[in-house]
Amino acid sequence: MRAKFIVDTNVGRLARWLRMMGYDTLFINPIDDEGLIAIGLKEKRVLLTRDTQIMLRRVVTSGRLKVLLIQDDDPKDQLRQVVRTLKLDQERKFTLCLECNEPLVPRSKEEIQDLVPPYVFKTQSQYVQCPVCHRVYWRGTHWQRMKKELETLFSPFSNFTLSE
Ligand SMILES: [Zn+2]
Repeated sequence: MRAKFIVDTNVGRLARWLRMMGYDTLFINPIDDEGLIAIGLKEKRVLLTRDTQIMLRRVVTSGRLKVLLIQDDDPKDQLRQVVRTLKLDQERKFTLCLECNEPLVPRSKEEIQDLVPPYVFKTQSQYVQCPVCHRVYWRGTHWQRMKKELETLFSPFSNFTLSE
């Protein structure tokens, strides 16, 4: 499912994970319920929240605004709930800036030479950059770790193998 999201401040940590998976996710802090609902309706975003009060609102009970009530405290369990409930895929992972939610742009080595540490420049050949914050991403250890966490999270045995 190609959903877009807006996360409530009580599940803010979901934003980075969903962006990492390539899902357009807004996280605005501070924001009140009215703001969340207005943006969700206007931009057709699924609202993720732990706030049971929002679930009682007419705009939600009538089905106009799609809301997923998050059950768990742990961000990884929260992510698992979202992925399973909405059947998210991982086909576009690492295509969005984790900080800005902007689509990343491929860059040549020459273009980013002055922006990455020399040892990275020496060892990595593929780079992407955020056009807004100008952060450069490459397939280094951080990338590998996140990829591994995602794989662990969605393996059939993930309930037994979750680390940390
Ligand atoms: Zn950015």
